[in-house]
Amino acid sequence: MENAPSRRNFLAAGLALPAAASASRSSGAEQSQTQPPGRPSSGAAPQYRILGKTGLRVTTVGYGCMITSDPSVIARAVDMGINYFDTSRNYQNGQNERMVGAALGARRKDVFLASKSNDNPRTGPGILAEIETSLKELNTGYLDVWHLHGLSNPAEITDELVEAAYKAKAQGKIRFVGVSTHNLPAIVDRLLEAKIEVVQPQYSFASAKSYGAAIEKLSAAGVGVIAMKVMARGRGPSRPAAFAPAALKWAINNPAIATTVPSMTDIEQLQQNFKAMGERFTDADAQILSARLEEIGPYFCRMCGQCAGQCPKGLPVPDMVRFVMYADGYGQFPLGRENFQRMSAERQKVRCGDCATCAVHCPNGVQVAARLSRAQQLFAC
Ligand code: SF4
Ligand code: SF4
Repeated sequence: MENAPSRRNFLAAGLALPAAASASRSSGAEQSQTQPPGRPSSGAAPQYRILGKTGLRVTTVGYGCMITSDPSVIARAVDMGINYFDTSRNYQNGQNERMVGAALGARRKDVFLASKSNDNPRTGPGILAEIETSLKELNTGYLDVWHLHGLSNPAEITDELVEAAYKAKAQGKIRFVGVSTHNLPAIVDRLLEAKIEVVQPQYSFASAKSYGAAIEKLSAAGVGVIAMKVMARGRGPSRPAAFAPAALKWAINNPAIATTVPSMTDIEQLQQNFKAMGERFTDADAQILSARLEEIGPYFCRMCGQCAGQCPKGLPVPDMVRFVMYADGYGQFPLGRENFQRMSAERQKVRCGDCATCAVHCPNGVQVAARLSRAQQLFAC
């Protein structure tokens, strides 16, 4: 099954893609699957890559501010040399942008700052109004990258939205137009057609194999690629201390990834992620991730799309599994509930417990009915 990164095919499905991409850009020498070329073996110093045709020189570990509540951690990250910060007003009940702006203060000019649209409204005038609000909340005159947020099918990337984003760019309010997505393979061709400059997909060791190919396609076209949700936070047994750096290094191993935006809540996590920036991905890391992949199987959706349309009651299975992940994996219950309550009233009323058997089969082992029942239990009014 091509898309399923099971324990058995983990190395082939996940690790081989970054290594293959490395090889295509190197001198042609044969590369090991787990030891990509050209990376320093140790040392806690910033490592940089260029974000596609934007030319931005970004640290390979950026900072995802989604669940940070302590601004001093953000300030410390700037001190250490991390130079890419990602936020959205969607996070922390609308407070995240304001907190990030205050944390950066006068040092905002020293870093690259990205934010995103809300989910509504999705009209050209609505987009322009949202950008104005983001600039005020972040206390900045411009954003380096601004994403149309969470677009997962080509029809959502309308000409109206893209034109509005480019209008903001022409006005100097944003430097580069981006899209964030939880389903990159489904929209990669539309992203290229719409001339999106930066793409931020969910991408981790648990991603379906099709993600690696889609990322390579974007990179080859000069699109800057930023990996989010690199820790694949599914519910499940607690993770060993070495898990987070292993997951981060796995994503950085792919040279098509310019930067990553792991969430960080305290100085210890910051230091751990910063250190990982200069370390090799090892066989021991691969073993940790392989074990974790097996553990999270029942919980973590790889967004492979193979269950699309299978629920006879029309439930968007991957989206709903993700809503639960916000609550159980990130401790972001309000974010999960907000997303759930954006579904149609008809979908919100469906109860998986009313089905004698679930018609949805996940080849990756996600227990669909159980996960969706939890979403209904947690979030339904
Ligand atoms: S739930 Fe659906 S999209 Fe998610 S991994 Fe399973 S088949 Fe793929
Ligand atoms: S159990 Fe839930 S996901 Fe499965 S078929 Fe029924 S409504 Fe759809």
